[in-house]
Amino acid sequence: MGEDLEKLKQRFSLLDYLRQQNWVAKPAGHGPEFVGLCPLHPETRPSFYVNTRKNLFYCHGCGQGGDLLRFVQLSRHLSFRQSLAYLEQQSVPLTDPADVLEQTAAFYQQQLDRYPEALHYLKQRGLHDLALIKELRIGYAPGGSLRRHLTAQGYSCDLLQRLGLLDLQGHDAFYRRVVFPCCQGGRVINLYGRSIAAAFAHRFLPRSKGDLYGWEQVQQCPEVILVEGLFDYAVLWQAGFHHVTCSLGTHLNTYQFQQLCDRPRTIYLTFDVDANGSGQQASQQLAHRLRARGISTRVVLLPDGHDPNSFFVQGGDARQFQSLLEAAQP
Ligand SMILES: [Zn+2]
Repeated sequence: MGEDLEKLKQRFSLLDYLRQQNWVAKPAGHGPEFVGLCPLHPETRPSFYVNTRKNLFYCHGCGQGGDLLRFVQLSRHLSFRQSLAYLEQQSVPLTDPADVLEQTAAFYQQQLDRYPEALHYLKQRGLHDLALIKELRIGYAPGGSLRRHLTAQGYSCDLLQRLGLLDLQGHDAFYRRVVFPCCQGGRVINLYGRSIAAAFAHRFLPRSKGDLYGWEQVQQCPEVILVEGLFDYAVLWQAGFHHVTCSLGTHLNTYQFQQLCDRPRTIYLTFDVDANGSGQQASQQLAHRLRARGISTRVVLLPDGHDPNSFFVQGGDARQFQSLLEAAQP
């Protein structure tokens, strides 16, 4: 019971709960505190404080304080057990992760211009079109400031850790990474981070990678280029190939595979040509599965050791890439 109780409390942010009950609050100073009128006693001057980091409240007027469960007991005049049952029925978590990810993406995007190393890295990866960088909402996680930013907006540390934005020590999980938001239906559903240093290059949040990246824009196209990485996607788009989508890895999830099959089209499979042959193997397997569904496929053969990104970074141009598409075999 003890452990379940902790889990239950962690599922809800006290601030979100209060807001859902129409509690109006404003930040109290710069810390993780919010203040508003006390919902537990009549008052005209705000004396009810919520600490979002600790997920606790305290009212200086009536002297009541505690956690969410305590608040439910007091405000609904329920026993401890009844409050517990009440909260358990609220099966939908009150905070929508997409809102938090949206805030995170916006914050990282603001940081990008402030850190020359991040822009330098993008340039190194062949990405120089500032309008495109803005359009893709590429950002940078300098590390150390996300937690302050989000807790000041009322999100608990605990929630941020559960989403994988902070590690168990409370540090920024995307530390020193260039970050791409992955969107679906206009909502951010995951983040991809690419380290600008060598170690632990790739990172996603521990949740679904969602649909094919940028799918809405290519869904109607009779020919679609499929790449495995977001830097491949970005340089191809920059070079004028706008009928491109990205599977975020060579393994497609069920949704992504269904998307490719939703109408007759030709898919140009443009995975990395790595030394161990894993990219080519993945291409062949996927081509086979697509053909079985009546989808026409071409496997694009990049020069040895290349992916579309490195192809352009090392001087390849749009005309040469176009020739590779034309030379691609079924
Ligand atoms: Zn009070």
